[in-house]
Amino acid sequence: MGLVRLVVILIIAWLIYSTTRRWLASLDQKWDQKKSGRSEKIETMVSCAYCGLHVPQNEALQAQGKYYCSSEHQKRAESS
Ligand SMILES: [Zn+2]
Repeated sequence: MGLVRLVVILIIAWLIYSTTRRWLASLDQKWDQKKSGRSEKIETMVSCAYCGLHVPQNEALQAQGKYYCSSEHQKRAESS
């Protein structure tokens, strides 16, 4: 009777252990995806075609294949 109870406890303990490990691994994967996505955004820098200022690509204004730090510089570059 005691042995059966021990085996049952071991099986339950193993199930908890493997489920927790799988859950932690999936959390780690999600965290890695977030981190890599964020660092990609930071690394993508473009320089303003008018003044040469470096700005993140998602904040820069794009016109005719060129990047600008502000709409004012875009207008100035187009009018000159
Ligand atoms: Zn500029």
